[in-house]
Amino acid sequence: MMKCPQSGGTEAVHNCIGYAVDRAPGPVLYVYPDEATAKENAQDRVIPMLMASPRLREYMTGMADDLSALRIKLAHMTIHMAWSGSASRLGNKPIRHLVLDELDKYQNQKKEASSEALAEKRVITWGRKARIWKISTPTVVNGAIHRAWQLAEARYRYHVICPACGTELLMEFENIRWQDDMKPVQIKSRSLAWYECQHCGAHWTDADRDEAVLRGCWREKAGGYGTHGAFGSSAPYFHWFSHSRVDFPFREAR
Ligand SMILES: [Zn+2]
Repeated sequence: MMKCPQSGGTEAVHNCIGYAVDRAPGPVLYVYPDEATAKENAQDRVIPMLMASPRLREYMTGMADDLSALRIKLAHMTIHMAWSGSASRLGNKPIRHLVLDELDKYQNQKKEASSEALAEKRVITWGRKARIWKISTPTVVNGAIHRAWQLAEARYRYHVICPACGTELLMEFENIRWQDDMKPVQIKSRSLAWYECQHCGAHWTDADRDEAVLRGCWREKAGGYGTHGAFGSSAPYFHWFSHSRVDFPFREAR
C-alpha cells in the first residue's frame, strides 16, 4: 500500500489482523521503524482493537502478563512487535501474517540483510497461507515501497467520478489550481484553490471532490492478476486535505 501520510493505511491493516485472529489464526509479526512506534501501536491500537470487539475479546487470556507492548499472547496465537534493526526480534520464529509498516523509514545496518528481507524469511514455513502487508509513504523513487509497487502483479489506483461530466479519472496534484497572484496564506485561509477536471475543466470545491471520491472505485490498470497486489493513493483524495493547502509539505513528494 503506497500512500500519503495519515490516510488510514495502518488502521486498515489492523482490521485485516483482526480478521486473521478470528478467521485465519497464525503468528503475527508487526515491524515498525523504531521501538517506540512498535510499543505505541501495540498499546494504543492493537490491544484496544482486541478489547473493543466482543468476538476478538474471547481470544484474550485475561492474564496481565500476556498483554505486553512487545508481545500479545492470545489463547490460540501470538502477536509479536518488532522494529527495523532488531535482528534478534526479527529472526527467530515462523510467522503467518507479516506487517511491514512505514517501510521506507526502516534503518538498516550496512553489513546485514535489510530488516524487510530478514522479516520476509519468517513466513516461508507457512507457504501459500502466509500474508505480507507492506505499507508506506514513499520517500524516494527507489525506496522499498516503490520497489514493491513496481514488482506487484496487479496495481490498483483509486479513480473518482467528475460531478460535472461523469468522467472517471485519476486525481493529479498538477490539477490543483489557484490564481498566481495569490499568496499561499491567503489561498489557505480563504479556501481559494480548486481542482480542475482533466476532462471538462470544471472547477471542483473540496465538497465536489468528496462527492467525486464517494462515487469512485479502485481500478487495476497494470493489466495484471496474481498473488502480489498493490494499492496506491495520494493526498488530493482525502477529505482532510483541502485543495487550498498549497503549502502542504508532501505535495513535492507525490
Ligand atoms: Zn469533468
